[in-house]
Amino acid sequence: MNFDLTADQKHWRDLARDFAQSEIRPHAESLDRERKFPHDIISEMSKLGLMGLTLPEEYGGSGGDFVGYNLALEEISRADTSVGITMEAHISLGCAPIAAYGTQEQKERFLAPCATGEKLWAFGLTEENAGTDAGGTETTAELRDGEWVVDGSKKWITNSGTDITAGVTAIAKTGERESGKPELSAIIIPQDTPGFTRGPSYEKLGWRAADQHPLYFEDCHVPEENLLGERGRGFRQFLQTLDAGRVAVAALSVGLAQACLDEALARAVERRQFGKFISEFQAVQFKLADMAMEIELARNMVLKAAWLRDEGRSFGREASMAKVFASEAAKRAADQAVQIWGGEGFMETSAVARYWRQVKINEIGEGTSEINRQIIARSLLSESAEEAKENMVAQ
Ligand SMILES: Cc1cc2nc3c(=O)[nH]c(=O)nc-3n(C[C@H](O)[C@H](O)[C@H](O)COP(=O)(O)OP(=O)(O)OC[C@H]3O[C@@H](n4cnc5c(N)ncnc54)[C@H](O)[C@@H]3O)c2cc1C
Repeated sequence: MNFDLTADQKHWRDLARDFAQSEIRPHAESLDRERKFPHDIISEMSKLGLMGLTLPEEYGGSGGDFVGYNLALEEISRADTSVGITMEAHISLGCAPIAAYGTQEQKERFLAPCATGEKLWAFGLTEENAGTDAGGTETTAELRDGEWVVDGSKKWITNSGTDITAGVTAIAKTGERESGKPELSAIIIPQDTPGFTRGPSYEKLGWRAADQHPLYFEDCHVPEENLLGERGRGFRQFLQTLDAGRVAVAALSVGLAQACLDEALARAVERRQFGKFISEFQAVQFKLADMAMEIELARNMVLKAAWLRDEGRSFGREASMAKVFASEAAKRAADQAVQIWGGEGFMETSAVARYWRQVKINEIGEGTSEINRQIIARSLLSESAEEAKENMVAQ
């Protein structure tokens, strides 16, 4: 096996690390406190090619591979997960489906302005009554005289209301199948479409500098050619979109876990009690060792899933495994980092308190831990025990 990164992958990781440590980390506390969308940072990341890292070069993207993207995302999230999720939602949720399923005309019109990161694109699936159960989508799109007429609403949609948001791809019910199940399709809705409005942003536990809004569609008309992919394939497209998104959320979790270890190590060698540095106590050493082991494992799971995707192989089970393990490892890391910081870690001014607040969402967004465990178990139960082992070890 070869664990070495390619020159390109190293380039993206190092570029992201340098930028994140010098330009993001120093502002993470104030961005969170002021709940301010980081326009300047996103604009700089766009100039560096980070906001279009995996998107096709012919439309202005950077053409990087999925491993390089996840390495970069880890570094950005290590500095601030609000910036990390802004990058992830834009690339994996907003733009990747247009790159994968869009017509050439759609790519020219909608992807090209976003593939550099100059504009952002959002992905709207979740609704009041359709969270984990996306089949419960109530937003409708009816084809009338060559136009889709969209009615309904969406909830918590990332990057949907910034000054540079160009639009959203919304999952809508376009009919009913013979089985009685809804026919779901993806519709491209530009930001300035009459009848498309956004509600105020939310009061959140974390990701406070990231942008989420409820969206409302009222008699909202878009041309028939704004259908993304095939009619009735919206659900399948969305599942494929989420597989890749899960690897990326796992990378984001690894970045946050690493930030917790960074802070824990720094405190352990600086804080003295009983005349010693607390790093000299075995109880503290074991916490540091456990954090490091879990981060190492989570990072390897992310990279394996990302590598499988780059190789064009099946990676859904590995994506779910990486997402569950990395998000839960990050939660444990945040908890132990606060413990090592003691009372100082309970203060809002400490970075670890911020990490402790921010970490929870990773177990919820882009598929909860429960649903990902179901995906893993279902895939195991569809194979013999030997096949399951074979497929996990030697892909
Ligand atoms: C900050 C933020 C940003 C987001 N950004 C976006 C975005 O950009 N686009 C978008 O479309 N969505 C977005 N979401 C929505 C997110 O993807 C959902 O929150 C997530 O899918 C879970 O849905 P829910 O919150 O409605 O939970 P629910 O579906 O209500 O689940 C509640 C609990 O029930 C459990 N549960 C549900 N069904 C089952 C089952 N069958 N078996 C076992 N347990 C089950 C869940 O695991 C969970 O623990 C965002 C959410 C947040 C908070």
